[in-house]
Amino acid sequence: MMHADLKKILITQEEIARRCQELGDTITNDYKGQKPLIVGLLKGSVPFMAELIKHIDLDIEIDFMDVSSYEGTESVGDVRINKDLSNSAQGDDILLVEDIVDTGRTLRRVIDFLYQKGAKSVRVVSLLDKPERRVVDINADYVGFVVPNEFVVGFGLDYNQRYRNLPYVGVLKEECY
Ligand code: 5GP
Repeated sequence: MMHADLKKILITQEEIARRCQELGDTITNDYKGQKPLIVGLLKGSVPFMAELIKHIDLDIEIDFMDVSSYEGTESVGDVRINKDLSNSAQGDDILLVEDIVDTGRTLRRVIDFLYQKGAKSVRVVSLLDKPERRVVDINADYVGFVVPNEFVVGFGLDYNQRYRNLPYVGVLKEECY
């Protein structure tokens, strides 16, 4: 059953599960022999990260960062780091987990920050990609799904902190903004 506040479902629970399996297999292959640190950006990446790491068959560690750049549905230019990694990133091969790449500002800032902290490599896996909205010339290395230029919620993505628990990704009805 679709949530009553949604206009449509863009990506179903089954499609997400299948894609996480595929991404996990690819990442497992690409990082063979390495022990990547998987870093989730709070809070939107949590459901995706949980599903994805089940399919990463490597000796990994996980950590989280909290950055903020978004108020309501409007992006603001600056990105603030609210919570840093628990450990030093020195020499780490980091796989950053994002819910969506929109303007690209968050990614640019966080990737630069991780290299400043001494990361050896930083790659990005994002559940969603909204290429039409890009302002900064940057892309995720691994993308689950490309979405059109609409405000999406579910599977980690919120509107004013709601809807993160929906097991699918969909578009809110206009009257719910
Ligand atoms: P960027 O810095 O790439 O513009 O923004 C990335 C962040 O903005 C994402 O991590 C996400 O929190 C938020 N964001 C961008 N587009 C959407 C969207 O369509 N829906 C929701 N819920 N959040 C979005």
